Amino acid sequence: MEKKVVLPITDENGYYQIRLESIGGLGANLCGKMLGELGIKYLGLNSASFSSYGSEKTGTPVKGFIRYSSADLDIKLHSPIKTPHLLVIFHDALLSDTSVLKGCGSDTDIIVNTVNGKDRQELLELEDYHCVYFLDAQKIAIETKSRINVVMLGAIAKVMGFVELEDLNAICKDTLGRKYPASLSQNMEGIRRGYEEVDIAFESDRSKSPKGNKNEEESIWGYETAPIGGINPCFGNSVVNDLSPSRQGYFPIFIPEKCINCGLCDTTCPDMVFQFQKGEFKGREMMLNKGLDYYHCKGCLRCVTVCPVQALVRGVEAEHPHKKYFMPNQELLRNPDNYEKAGYDGYITSEAFLTEQRIKGGEV
Ligand code: SF4
Ligand code: SF4
Repeated sequence: MEKKVVLPITDENGYYQIRLESIGGLGANLCGKMLGELGIKYLGLNSASFSSYGSEKTGTPVKGFIRYSSADLDIKLHSPIKTPHLLVIFHDALLSDTSVLKGCGSDTDIIVNTVNGKDRQELLELEDYHCVYFLDAQKIAIETKSRINVVMLGAIAKVMGFVELEDLNAICKDTLGRKYPASLSQNMEGIRRGYEEVDIAFESDRSKSPKGNKNEEESIWGYETAPIGGINPCFGNSVVNDLSPSRQGYFPIFIPEKCINCGLCDTTCPDMVFQFQKGEFKGREMMLNKGLDYYHCKGCLRCVTVCPVQALVRGVEAEHPHKKYFMPNQELLRNPDNYEKAGYDGYITSEAFLTEQRIKGGEV
């Protein structure tokens, strides 16, 4: 018999709404599509799902929107979701921009993909929301050889509370099984672990919480107020070009003893991560590779492929001892004293002079 799920909570239109906050490369778009299909095919609901993103490339912001309603109610609203019942943050670094929390409040459940789960409670004002869940989806994805989006899918289903693992497995077989049959079992394992390991960090009593959602103020730029021609008058906004959320568990580790300062990595890197400074190598004056400014590294690992002497190797980010220097808080970047805290393979190098000079106004 076909299932008919009853939605536990809906808005004034009768919709249950989910918003995904992500960045290109983490698979939120596909995750949203799978949630949409899941509603119609296996839950007996109506559903609508769509994404919003700019150019399709790694590191650009992506938002996914999913609406569910009961089967007898058509979904006639097709605008982005402003006040979600469930907000899913695919990388904790996205929280450095508080606009991802817009429209969320005491009615909202939030899932954050972050390392060290409950230890990261400082990421959010937990009491402002209904329930907050943490999950180290990146670690699970690496361990199961699946992807972050399927692990998050498992977590989303668990938190929604009206989806069973068998429904997820069915949609996974329909979608991923057809596209990537060789990795179906890994993806199903990723879903299972996301479903079982998502960890509640805070739960409020919905009946006691004040109703309504916070952070609803409108953006100062809309179609009526945007600058003519769509130009961005906030100069220098590429200074804090934080690409770290684009990494998917791996990053390059620099072994300076092996480096012959050939510069191939610098030529290859699309994001000016390598920091070269004048110096001396084998008795000759030349530009020396001082290491990486990991803030700008998106983890594509092209530099590892191109290095002729294996002075760059692939590392698992979560195992790296300099993890402590990674903070979503951009104040770290703005204070040059912090550069001294990290070694050449720290998240921000001691020689991150390019970044420093950019902050000062671009006189490199
Ligand atoms: S490609 Fe390798 S050897 Fe050449 S500068 Fe980069 S790290 Fe050093
Ligand atoms: S992995 Fe290497 S090539 Fe890719 S962005 Fe990072 S430093 Fe640059």
